Amino acid sequence: MKYSIHDGPGIRTAVFFKGCPLNCQWCHNPESQRYDQELFYWPDRCIGCGQCLANCPNGAIRTLSGKLEFRRDLCKVCGACCKVCHAGARSLVAKRMSVSEVMAEVEKDLIFYDESGGGVTFTGGEAMMQPAFLAELLKACRKKEIHTAVETCGFVKPEILQTISAEADLFLYDLKLMDSQKHQAYTGAANDLVLANLRWLAERQAEVLVRVPVIPGCNDDQENLHQLGEFLTSLPRVKELHLLPYHRAGVDKYKRLGREYLLPEVQAPENEQMERIKETLEEYGLKVKIGG
Ligand code: SF4
Ligand code: SF4
Repeated sequence: MKYSIHDGPGIRTAVFFKGCPLNCQWCHNPESQRYDQELFYWPDRCIGCGQCLANCPNGAIRTLSGKLEFRRDLCKVCGACCKVCHAGARSLVAKRMSVSEVMAEVEKDLIFYDESGGGVTFTGGEAMMQPAFLAELLKACRKKEIHTAVETCGFVKPEILQTISAEADLFLYDLKLMDSQKHQAYTGAANDLVLANLRWLAERQAEVLVRVPVIPGCNDDQENLHQLGEFLTSLPRVKELHLLPYHRAGVDKYKRLGREYLLPEVQAPENEQMERIKETLEEYGLKVKIGG
């Protein structure tokens, strides 16, 4: 993604990695959660030309009562239908790229990084789930004097975090829930590793910006906010916190992927609610900003 202004300082290029060890129910990038290739399908864009039906080698597209039916369970994600769908109703989610291909894209925007104090943010998914590739990219950026940020959910092996921390300029560290059982219920994993890794980074004096997605009814309660404030003030050097209000921009993507969205009732928080949360956390002496 080009010209991002929500993924670290200045104007940035966001490089999305596929695959994440967590499974957050509110995730607005569900296409980056799984490691394998996936297919986006927009039925409302389909003009019924039948090209996909004629070109699918796996019988995943059929006609049923005169209408096209997509059988995702039979789809092998080969991409043949995407190449012939000129209505843009079918597309593959990701593509394989080499380090030099990614760098070629990144370097197109050097002038914007220089003028705005920006750079590149490696995000996902979880970029540290492909540690060797990420490390090579970080080294290539450093050679070109491009500022780097790694956005992380923190649920990564400590040895990987330690290796990557030697190469990255900044971590955008997402912290979701302080209660480990709730963390497990909403994300699929306990939070011990997430908290321990954040403490390790803070104690090693790494540049870390903590970001908290605010999900109404999930982590905006007073108990979670106070536990968060206490934890963050116990860390050396972590003085700033960004609150990211929940939004529903990713909900449609679940349909395009043929998946169920598990939080259909959750709505974006009101501004007043965000201000109240900000004030609660400012009581802990933290500099709190609403937004990325
Ligand atoms: S190729 Fe695209 S537009 Fe044509 S029938 Fe298939 S999905 Fe619809
Ligand atoms: S991705 Fe391949 S298997 Fe899946 S529907 Fe398209 S052509 Fe068929």
